[in-house]
Amino acid sequence: MGTQLLGTVHINREKHAVDRGEALRYMGMSDGGESQEVDDALRQRIEDSFTHCEECSTPAWTYRVFPLQETDEGLALVGTVLVLTGDDIRTHLHGAKYCAVMAATCGLANERELQIQSAKGTVEALAFDAAGSALAETTASACNAAIVEDAHEQGLFCNWRYSPGYGDLPLSLQPQILRILEAEKLLGITTTPAHLMVPTKSVTALVGLFDQPQEQRKSCQGCSLFQECTLRTKGHTCYQ
Ligand code: SF4
Repeated sequence: MGTQLLGTVHINREKHAVDRGEALRYMGMSDGGESQEVDDALRQRIEDSFTHCEECSTPAWTYRVFPLQETDEGLALVGTVLVLTGDDIRTHLHGAKYCAVMAATCGLANERELQIQSAKGTVEALAFDAAGSALAETTASACNAAIVEDAHEQGLFCNWRYSPGYGDLPLSLQPQILRILEAEKLLGITTTPAHLMVPTKSVTALVGLFDQPQEQRKSCQGCSLFQECTLRTKGHTCYQ
């Protein structure tokens, strides 16, 4: 791998739109409420909250790539104090040469407004919360797509992102992950004593970088990065 990727801090602060379909799904309205008792006035209140969430958010992401090393305690990220523990992450990163560590967030202004809205307990609060979750995932996917594209330029292939709290990868690794990304300084993300992130609408994840393609994918159909994939829009793919 060239020096462009390894250890370099990659950061982006592009605005993203709330994925309405995804936010409605988070609200339990997977069909947009059309088969439910949702009148036009309520639909408009929900849409206004989605827009309000976009206005209050400052989406940003960062990632860094580290070589991996097997140790007795777990998978160590070379050059850091972070050791990934648990069987599931070992399986996820089996055979990977490098690991991209990423964080994405909707930002502190979103968090402040989320707290205000949550105290009201209204449909607006529910919609704002759902919109923030959807926006955090979109921002994380944009970061993930950038990792895929950068890996592709180095002749490497990615697998899907894996977050602390999945399987037996402990949430207690969250502070160390944020520290090696300088995520507090760059993105304003901190953790509570229970290792939950603030802003709430934040995502951290680990992506393996491999010499060989990790899936027998033959098309982009069904790919979770389809919307955000910059590789695809440039006429390339991650699987050929
Ligand atoms: S499968 Fe297609 S859309 Fe998904 S990351 Fe690869 S190139 Fe991009």
